[in-house]
Amino acid sequence: MTEHREVIVVGSGPAGLTAAIYTARASLAPLVIEGEPSSTSDQPGGQLMLTTDVENFPGFPEGIMGPDLMIRMKEQATRFGAEVITKKARRVDLSARPYSIWVDDETAAEPDYTADALIVSTGAQSLMLGLENETRLVGHGVSTCATCDGFFFRDQQIAVIGGGDSALEEAGFLTKFASKVTVIHRRDELRASKIMQERALANPKIEFLWNATVTAIHGDTKLSGVTVEDTVTGETTEMAIDGLFIAIGHKPNTDVFKGQLEMRENGYITTAPDSTATNVDGVFACGDVQDDIYRQAITAAGSGCAAALEAERWLEAQHDA
Ligand code: NAP
Repeated sequence: MTEHREVIVVGSGPAGLTAAIYTARASLAPLVIEGEPSSTSDQPGGQLMLTTDVENFPGFPEGIMGPDLMIRMKEQATRFGAEVITKKARRVDLSARPYSIWVDDETAAEPDYTADALIVSTGAQSLMLGLENETRLVGHGVSTCATCDGFFFRDQQIAVIGGGDSALEEAGFLTKFASKVTVIHRRDELRASKIMQERALANPKIEFLWNATVTAIHGDTKLSGVTVEDTVTGETTEMAIDGLFIAIGHKPNTDVFKGQLEMRENGYITTAPDSTATNVDGVFACGDVQDDIYRQAITAAGSGCAAALEAERWLEAQHDA
């Protein structure tokens, strides 16, 4: 049986849950399709579920654990009438209104849900090396966000992996705290823009390890070091470090919307200027799924609020028409 909702929110990170809080308080009884714990890309609660201390989300002067923050946001949304289901959107059809969403069997003729307005907040994921211990040590020395975690590495030894703009930006930011930052890059040439390269190469606290890949991450409860392999000689060395920042790129979770929502070349959803509106009327995108610049919980939450307000106004206009 297909169930109809005025608003469906797909994704449950800070953007999705903020959109849920706002639409719930506007008496729109949103349904939140929060994702499934088994999948890395549609993790309920989003990327903050993979972090430990969050010290830059306003309102928590002592900091808060990422998962605790997300539990609170979810509680706040359900308190006002949002319904949250632990499923993932397996298929969507945005070609006709109301929009259709399949969460169980994507081959079924009838969708599980239809919605008048859809808020897409499926987030993005950091690309990882795929090494043993890597995910386990995220938040315990391994990080994918210098802005979030740099502060915890005051006067410590840090390595950043990658040779693009992200890696050099992270490395530069980390020199504010760390005694030394080593950029480990798999080639002898950086991918980053000229200006970022010049800045990083001129920074006395940044060292480069060229033609090098990390082949193992060590640490029991906390990162203790990495094994680095020289890609030319095959020689391996052990490197003791306190922090490892992986900056090899991000991937937005947009596969299910491909061919239906307009996306930029890098796969992030395109929204209208100063708006969360997508190319499909009544479909709004917020948070990291459309943001490849800031990628912060607070900016995601802010855009979730904007998406909710825009969806609410759009629904009102539809009713008036
Ligand atoms: P990116 O440009 O794709 O660079 C990824 C880097 O990681 C590359 O150097 C790549 O090496 C390396 N890499 C990829 N997979 C790896 C692996 N498995 N092991 C080791 N190294 C690996 O990604 P990005 O730096 O996140 O930038 C994404 C986009 O955002 C770019 O267009 C960038 O210009 C933009 N951006 C701009 C700014 C800024 O202007 N301030 C800041 C951040 C990002 P190879 O070079 O060998 O492929």
